[in-house]
Amino acid sequence: MEMKGGLSDLFASRRLVVVSNRLPYNPSRTSRGIRYVKGSGGLVTALDPILRLSNGLWIGWDGGTGPPMKEKRVTVSEPEGEGSYQLRFVNLTEKEISHYYYSFSNRTLWPLFHNFIGMIHFSSADWKTYFKTNAYFAGTILEEANPSDIIWVQDYHLCLVPNFIRYQNPDLRPYFFLHTPFPPYDTFRVLPWGKPILEGLLGSEKIGFHLKNYADNFLDCVEKILNGHVDRERGIVELEGRKVKVGSHPISIDYDAFHDMALTKRVIKRVQKHRRRIEDRVVILGVDRLDYTKGIKERLLAVERFLEKHSKFRNRVLFIQVAVPSRTRVDEYRVMKREVDETIGRINGRFTGEGWPPIQYIYRSISREELVAYYRLADIALITPGRDGMNLIAKEYVASQVDMKGVLILSEFAGAAEELTEALLVNPYDIETVCETIHKAIRMSLREKRRRMEKMQDLGKRRDIYCWVRDFFEEVD
Ligand code: UDP
Repeated sequence: MEMKGGLSDLFASRRLVVVSNRLPYNPSRTSRGIRYVKGSGGLVTALDPILRLSNGLWIGWDGGTGPPMKEKRVTVSEPEGEGSYQLRFVNLTEKEISHYYYSFSNRTLWPLFHNFIGMIHFSSADWKTYFKTNAYFAGTILEEANPSDIIWVQDYHLCLVPNFIRYQNPDLRPYFFLHTPFPPYDTFRVLPWGKPILEGLLGSEKIGFHLKNYADNFLDCVEKILNGHVDRERGIVELEGRKVKVGSHPISIDYDAFHDMALTKRVIKRVQKHRRRIEDRVVILGVDRLDYTKGIKERLLAVERFLEKHSKFRNRVLFIQVAVPSRTRVDEYRVMKREVDETIGRINGRFTGEGWPPIQYIYRSISREELVAYYRLADIALITPGRDGMNLIAKEYVASQVDMKGVLILSEFAGAAEELTEALLVNPYDIETVCETIHKAIRMSLREKRRRMEKMQDLGKRRDIYCWVRDFFEEVD
């Protein structure tokens, strides 16, 4: 099988075993029983062909959304005739879901890694469950994998897994990728369990980060907390006679898939329908998981300031905010949702005159097609996280700009800002400047918009998600 990205040789001879907290498949009941339907995330899109080629395996939790499974694993083989691979389920108890997933992963590591120190929740009970659950994941990998496999562990939920694996079977050499930022030493050191987290990660053959800055922060911590020997030039940590590679590889999207979808009749129809409704108003778009790292509240304040200061644009701009429900069991997320709801209510109450409320708020997950239609519709994408490992929404917006008339306003604290330098980069906490940047974007000439978008699209096309996988495994044979 030929694959985008030229990884055929490596994975024709070696099986890929991916391990993540959540499997990227959702159970769906059909007349012929339960079927597992592939999600639309970038990672599964990129890895799917490799997994098929190598008769691979994906190990993870099914999210507890389906009926209890009797089988340990299922085979996914659709579409027919293109190879198949297996999903291996890791079943989590209510206690594990609560302490390992919702608490330690999402209330401790998530704010820590995003440098939101005030939001970190410290609990040794959570840590203990995180430790045990990581050991349980590692045990499942040990049951399934053999030394010729390429094992690739994903993300902050599973930081301890690499070392657990290596300790029990040194012939298995796991790879790791962190999809969040990694914080500076002064932040990381507040974590009472920082040392075992670093040791856990260093069980890997190679650790990947999105940006060099995140990798450098990690290396600082290794030096200062573990007294590890670090070769920064070559990106290598030497530890107990072993070398661990540390690299930076900014993740991306399936660029062509977004671009092509933006050109489909169905998307064009949706855009036309929206346009008829909103007429010639300037559309400003925000799309995020409802998470406190995404800067939604500050963004709303910037929109409010814009309406206040540039009153002639009242009823001439429409701000559409899509917020995807996320971690709704966690207190901080509930508090945040209330604040966002109230702020939108207040701004709409204040500025709804003869015409429309200025903010349209969509609180649900939307389909890929709907999303791409919003990307095409939007004159401006306002993407202003307080901190974000990468931010794929920004890259998807660029890929979907087939008319080249959109402007991207992007937080300088999103990992994507390092590549998307032709965006209008802003500090999301500087409300006045974000307000003025919206004004600048509205007045930007078509020529200037096109020039900026062309540059960003060129880069997006070249460095897509397939390129990301290839780069990560470049030195593996
Ligand atoms: N997305 C989605 N459903 C929606 C809206 C968006 O699945 O209703 C996707 C979107 O296409 C993007 C991802 O969610 O790929 C968000 O990724 P990003 O890196 O921006 O943020 P994260 O949620 O991973 O922090």
